[in-house]
Amino acid sequence: MNLIDCHTHSTNSPDGYNGPEAMVLNAIEKGLSVYALTDHCEINRWFTYEHYTKHSNPEDTYDFAHDFEISMRDNLRLQEKYSDRITFINGIELGQAQFNFGLASAVASDARLDFIIGSCHQVRGYDDFAFTDYSVTDAQELVNRYYSEVYEICRWGEFDVLGHLTYPLRYIEGNCGISVDMSMSDELIRESFKILIENGKGIEINTSGYRQKYGRPFPDLKYVKMFRDMGGEVISVGSDAHCTDDLGKGVKEGIELAQAAGFRYLTYFRKRKAHRQSI
Ligand SMILES: [Zn+2]
Ligand SMILES: [Zn+2]
Repeated sequence: MNLIDCHTHSTNSPDGYNGPEAMVLNAIEKGLSVYALTDHCEINRWFTYEHYTKHSNPEDTYDFAHDFEISMRDNLRLQEKYSDRITFINGIELGQAQFNFGLASAVASDARLDFIIGSCHQVRGYDDFAFTDYSVTDAQELVNRYYSEVYEICRWGEFDVLGHLTYPLRYIEGNCGISVDMSMSDELIRESFKILIENGKGIEINTSGYRQKYGRPFPDLKYVKMFRDMGGEVISVGSDAHCTDDLGKGVKEGIELAQAAGFRYLTYFRKRKAHRQSI
């Protein structure tokens, strides 16, 4: 099987553990044919803390504008250095475009980028899903808001694949054991897929859930199959590794899941252009 990992982080993300060069070398060592480094770029924290006067958490990470430049500089250097050994993709995980679509469009139009994952880690008026206290938060309400803001992100559409759909379930179901009713969300997901398909955009199978308490990918077969059955053509697979140990983890299972949903190839991006790889 030709392995490919299109969602990973290095120390150019606030939560990454290994440097970008260590990540690329590990991808080469593991025999990956295509490898994307997609460090975080959170639109609601693009500026320095001082810019966000109403924010109450100075401990949080800000100034992603600065991190973005470092990430582009490092990735382009590594792309050049290892071009004969691996197809290395200069990507970003663009978080929370819905907080400022104008800014998100400006970032997404950067010609240095090969690939953009559009993600949602937080909705308006709430904390990041990872830092939310679910004992005092209405999880159902939060999930409903998540799908409605994901729908907004899809309508904006200036990315290549939608990142880890169903992501709040990592915390809500996986970590806290709270089950939520998806019947209301299913219609919004269907509408989101419709827009993605009309615009030639894709979704990713994020395999991080396999190695976490949740135990399933984001999203699982139900939604990957729904996307395919509706006519979706673009699917990518990524481990969402934040360290070399996790790089490539679950990708094989992710590819099998794509096949089970009816996909015959994965898609990766170079200079924002789609390339297919048979599976
Ligand atoms: Zn993410
Ligand atoms: Zn990620």
